[in-house]
Amino acid sequence: MKEQWRKWLSDLQNLMLPRLCPVCSQRLMPNEQFICLACSMDLPRINLNPIDDNAMIRKLWAQIPVETGTSVIAYRHQSPFHNILVNIKYHGATELAFEMGRWAACEITSTTIFEQIDVMVPVPLSRRKMQKRGYNQSLLLCNGMAQVNRLPIRNWLHRISDENTQTHLNEEERIENTINAFEADIPINEHGKRILLVDDVFTTGATMTACAKAILKSDETAIINVFTLAYTV
Ligand SMILES: [Zn+2]
Repeated sequence: MKEQWRKWLSDLQNLMLPRLCPVCSQRLMPNEQFICLACSMDLPRINLNPIDDNAMIRKLWAQIPVETGTSVIAYRHQSPFHNILVNIKYHGATELAFEMGRWAACEITSTTIFEQIDVMVPVPLSRRKMQKRGYNQSLLLCNGMAQVNRLPIRNWLHRISDENTQTHLNEEERIENTINAFEADIPINEHGKRILLVDDVFTTGATMTACAKAILKSDETAIINVFTLAYTV
């Protein structure tokens, strides 16, 4: 009875406020949760293999020691799948962020990346942006992932300079702007952990580099691994 009541409420809600697929904007069917079935089948998956030597971590190796790294979606600006990240980042799609985290964790479970990780650390927003947006999409991704991998999440990173105009900068300016943007505060009894840094999208690697540097400054024995939902191709 309770189940029927819940279904009826959900159908009514869907009738009054139709849920739309963030990719194709078609109305979602009651059995489709956050992305329509057709779009979820067409998601441009990326397979960064092996996890200890691939294009993503090679970009980082020049700057920082990274043990493993991977991502699940190939990201192109012109692609309609771009809307997933736009909705997660700017349009308050908090449930979508959580579900994408859960989905992504399932997608990469077979890579064994989680087997060697002790904690997940989300890339943070500045305090100003956090107040404005009200949520950190990277933390939501971690929350979704944790449902699958059961790993603890630690907010050890803080963003000390603003990411305000970051999207309008070229690669060089972005790196310069980001390089000292973070600091980490890792308790001594947590030193030496294998950390999985989690972010929504990997573009130049500047954010991951800056976060890893901040972590290693706080704990030089930490071992860095990286995961992003999307990887810019
Ligand atoms: Zn769709």
